[in-house]
Amino acid sequence: MPKPSGGLGITTIESLYYAFGCSLIWRYYNIKSYLYTWWKENYVSFWNTGCKRSTVYWKFLCEVARKLPETFKFNINDSSSLSFFWEPWCSSSSVAERLKSKNLDHLITPQNLAVSSLISTGNWNLPPSIPPNLAAIIKAIPITSSLANCGWHNKEKPNFKSFIKSYFSDCPFVPWFKHVWHKHFALHFSTCCWMAFKHKLKTVDILLTWGILVNPICSFCHLYEENHNHLFFECNYTFQILKKVFPCMTSMLFRPNLGQVFCHIDDRETDISRKNYCFLLLCATVYYIWRAWNDRIFGNSVDCHSTILANIKRAIACYLLLTKNVHLLEGLLWQPGPAFLKDDDDSNNYMIPLDGHFGNQGSFSSFWMSFAAAESPTSTLILHF
Ligand SMILES: [Zn+2]
Repeated sequence: MPKPSGGLGITTIESLYYAFGCSLIWRYYNIKSYLYTWWKENYVSFWNTGCKRSTVYWKFLCEVARKLPETFKFNINDSSSLSFFWEPWCSSSSVAERLKSKNLDHLITPQNLAVSSLISTGNWNLPPSIPPNLAAIIKAIPITSSLANCGWHNKEKPNFKSFIKSYFSDCPFVPWFKHVWHKHFALHFSTCCWMAFKHKLKTVDILLTWGILVNPICSFCHLYEENHNHLFFECNYTFQILKKVFPCMTSMLFRPNLGQVFCHIDDRETDISRKNYCFLLLCATVYYIWRAWNDRIFGNSVDCHSTILANIKRAIACYLLLTKNVHLLEGLLWQPGPAFLKDDDDSNNYMIPLDGHFGNQGSFSSFWMSFAAAESPTSTLILHF
């Protein structure tokens, strides 16, 4: 499933088969080969339903041909070798199909009649046996000067990726994919965030549906039943963490859910680098909240807000350094405090300006040296990258 449709971008075996079949069909119409000539002599067309005996391989290609994307267009020209009756060049349908719908099957002869044999000096020269209304439809098909038998929408040659993409063209898009898979995303954080959007994290409500007896009350606030929406970010505990990471969230009238937080950042931030940095930060927040939840349930370890925030800050700093995106660190708060980002609406003394100077809060190198030298339980988090 592609990422824009809510998947992980890992293609399926079926789509690979389909793309392979499409590639072969494309070559069949655009490349001369003894094999393709033999296929044409033997089977006439992929849409020929009159073939009584055919190989499994040919049947597979016929199935793919019936599902060819709309972007796959047939061209009609003076020398076209397309089958007049079987190839669907006549307004996405074949002449044989139209004749069959009117019980005129006996007119489909000879089976291997080529389109070029009915074109003379750029004009249609149809036999009188073709019904007038069908003849009018055929004559409306333009005769092009293109020498190729088929073309691809806006492109001369499709590639394997184009066919894979067309296989999933019917899948609906999810609006949050660009937030989760933002530029410079961290796989660890984005995968966790993706699972949160898909409601695939094993929260208490899901464990209960599986018949696993667990306490249904949120292990953070101990007040409400736990589920994805509560965890991100209806819960007072997780919302307090969110507000410390993104102070602008204090302006929200109601507790936002995960999608609303992403949309709010998307609308608010205009600088693309800063926006990507915010998305990265939010994905890391989701990851470390979920990690803290696991530590409480399975590790018998209860982390406070400060520890979770320190984990997020340390991980983000390490990630940006390792991926050589140090310039984004200008938005990071060095001094321990309640916010990571400069927020124009909040007069927060803990934030550093984004004009490139660190002021009296120390240089970047001194910050990093202190970071690297610090010994804390969270230093092992670096290993995750
Ligand atoms: Zn809660």
